Amino acid sequence: MTVAINPAFARMGDENAFAVLAKAAELQRQGRDIINLGIGQPDFKTPPHIVEAAVKALRDGEHGYTDATGIATLREAVSEDLARRLGVEVSPDLVLITPGGKVAMYMAILMFGAEGTEIVYPDPGFPIYRSMIEFTGATPVPVPMREENGFAFSAEETLRLLTPKTRLLILNSPANPTGGVTPREEIDRLVAGLAAHPNIAILSDEIYGQLTYDRAAHRSLMAYPELRERLILLDGWSKTYAMTGWRLGFSVWPKPWREVARKLAVNSYSCVNSAAQFAGIAALGGPQDSVEAMRAEFDRRRRAVVEGLNRLPGVSAVTPKGAFYAFPNIGRTGWKAKPLASALLEEAGVATIGGPDFGVYGEGYLRLSYANSLEAIERALIRMADFLGRPASANASG
Ligand code: PMP
Repeated sequence: MTVAINPAFARMGDENAFAVLAKAAELQRQGRDIINLGIGQPDFKTPPHIVEAAVKALRDGEHGYTDATGIATLREAVSEDLARRLGVEVSPDLVLITPGGKVAMYMAILMFGAEGTEIVYPDPGFPIYRSMIEFTGATPVPVPMREENGFAFSAEETLRLLTPKTRLLILNSPANPTGGVTPREEIDRLVAGLAAHPNIAILSDEIYGQLTYDRAAHRSLMAYPELRERLILLDGWSKTYAMTGWRLGFSVWPKPWREVARKLAVNSYSCVNSAAQFAGIAALGGPQDSVEAMRAEFDRRRRAVVEGLNRLPGVSAVTPKGAFYAFPNIGRTGWKAKPLASALLEEAGVATIGGPDFGVYGEGYLRLSYANSLEAIERALIRMADFLGRPASANASG
């Protein structure tokens, strides 16, 4: 074929978690017993009152286009949720409902990324940050997330990377893929330092904001009034309410940028699925006990997974303080991360993701999602112990 597509697409990356999910499904179809610790989605069902609200909306005929920024009642519910959880006042006019939280990062990176500019983002981090930065032609500038810092942002290291070319700084706490939570004092220091860089926009990806453990409180960037004129908040329902497949997210923007984002919405998806928006209203306005029940169950699994990983030969894992991922250091197994992830899937029937899928600083680590039952996690750990305990010569590339 000789028809040339826009060369920018050659720079676009991917999210390998979806490829691993497809590969695991393929092996399962072949009759293999695969334990999936690869994909990052809660294994719980969406709470029934939320499902019912969507069904009712469809039955009531709520199936037309909605406002491109989201149904007003839903944006009001988001405002109330932010007031209740974070104690901040946000006008519903600043809220944009998106088909998944991911779309807000897509929009923000498109808005600020261009050739000759720089965007600073966490590495290891959610792979779409870098992918979209490269797509826009901007230069990706990774901030290393270090194991010795509990995979939190270092204010000093982050600030040192900002230059007159920096247009956007992407933050993510609690973090994918590490489970790192940046402590409040470090965020205070970062925000104080940002005063000297007034021309940099900030995207705070807080999609795991309600999943923290060990009293590691989530500190939202929304809590700093001095940032509000240049802060974009990314959040949503996917993780908090076990709603990944509904494709529903929300974001908060300074007014002029929300207008640009609204135009992007109109130029692409028009509006979010209307029944899903009604489900979102029920989720925010209804009982919140399922959120705490899921968090408590994730906490049990988190302890089991960390304990089990630290017993594996050549593996050590810091205790993640948020999200639902463990990010063990596999440096002393003799394996590189990606071949180990492949071998674990093919030979031990355990799907994980190699750290380098989240950036160059991810080498030497695996990501395990503990959004699976305790029983499955324990079986996976036994399989991994068996696999890693085999003599090196028995391992294909060990
Ligand atoms: N940010 C991070 C850090 C994530 O891990 C994810 C989902 N894996 C998202 C955003 C996107 O979430 P959604 O499914 O709502 O698009």
